[in-house]
Amino acid sequence: MKNKMIWIFVCLILCACNSQTIEENNADDVDRSQAILFDSVVSNDGIYNFLTDGYNGHFEFYDFDTEQNVPLCAKPNCEHEDMNCDAYSLSVYKDEFICYSAPTVYKNQLYVNYTLPTLDAGYICSMDLDGSNRKEVFAYKDECLVSGLMVDDKLYGVFGQFAKNEQGNNMNLNNKYKSYCYDLDNGDRKEISLENDQNMNFVQKGDHGIYVIRFNDLNHDLLLYNDEEYEMIEEGTFTNAMTVYNEKVYRINSENGTFESRDIKSTEWEPLISIGCEKEISFARINSYGIFLATYEFPKTIAIDVAKNVLISQEMNVICENDGSYYEYGSNQTIQKRSGLSGSSLKGG
Ligand SMILES: [Zn+2]
Repeated sequence: MKNKMIWIFVCLILCACNSQTIEENNADDVDRSQAILFDSVVSNDGIYNFLTDGYNGHFEFYDFDTEQNVPLCAKPNCEHEDMNCDAYSLSVYKDEFICYSAPTVYKNQLYVNYTLPTLDAGYICSMDLDGSNRKEVFAYKDECLVSGLMVDDKLYGVFGQFAKNEQGNNMNLNNKYKSYCYDLDNGDRKEISLENDQNMNFVQKGDHGIYVIRFNDLNHDLLLYNDEEYEMIEEGTFTNAMTVYNEKVYRINSENGTFESRDIKSTEWEPLISIGCEKEISFARINSYGIFLATYEFPKTIAIDVAKNVLISQEMNVICENDGSYYEYGSNQTIQKRSGLSGSSLKGG
């Protein structure tokens, strides 16, 4: 299962064909007090997207009004097809560090992770929402950034470690994970790794600290990080099908195909929606826009609008709701308005 988790996270990085950046307007539309690394950026006008074939990448903007995906470039007469285009040039840093994943917006700054193709070194850069004023926040080396949460002007990041060959070169990930708290103002970091360098995920800051899922072979633990200490909330009973959001635990119950929630410290589950099919979930999360995403048979994903208690999709990675419609990643990585299957008719529980 550890290998599976690594695979999933690498997929999140490589395939998180999601993404987003910025635009000149609506700077304050995308101001959030916390942001999940590699999550999408949605403004009032549309969704910022990043597309890559693994070699060349570029930023696009999906416009809610026109329902079109357009390159994120304002240059007159630009053909939008090479490094002369802003939508392309922003995807590379220092010639060899490449963006593979969705940028993140936090406090009206765009944060982009640039890595080597080997993933074992990189930079986090910040920039204005229109892509200007790019600055280095910090660099990392001999590590692979797998997940993170931005809150309180910090990045709580988890970095996979590499096994080395006899020459001292990085080989494959070795199931060890270092965690750091980075100061986004000056790039200073403090190590806050778990015992034995276990893998974990900083999920969301709640009323009493940051909720952290620690990944074990089968069932995981739920911890609370506060004041440089980890407190055990739930040991060995947290599963791949569960996540935490706004002081509640949510899960897909694969025994009866039900979406359920409970209070953090309760053991009583409340059924919310009948999914109608029993899937073994390999990874569940709730994105920055309140969409519960449970992946099974990767990349198939069950998507549920948590606030509206509506099943949106059993196949697609949904990004957000806007004006009554849902938006998802199409097969060619571009963003599309969801058609068909209306969630409301499936509402149950
Ligand atoms: Zn262009």
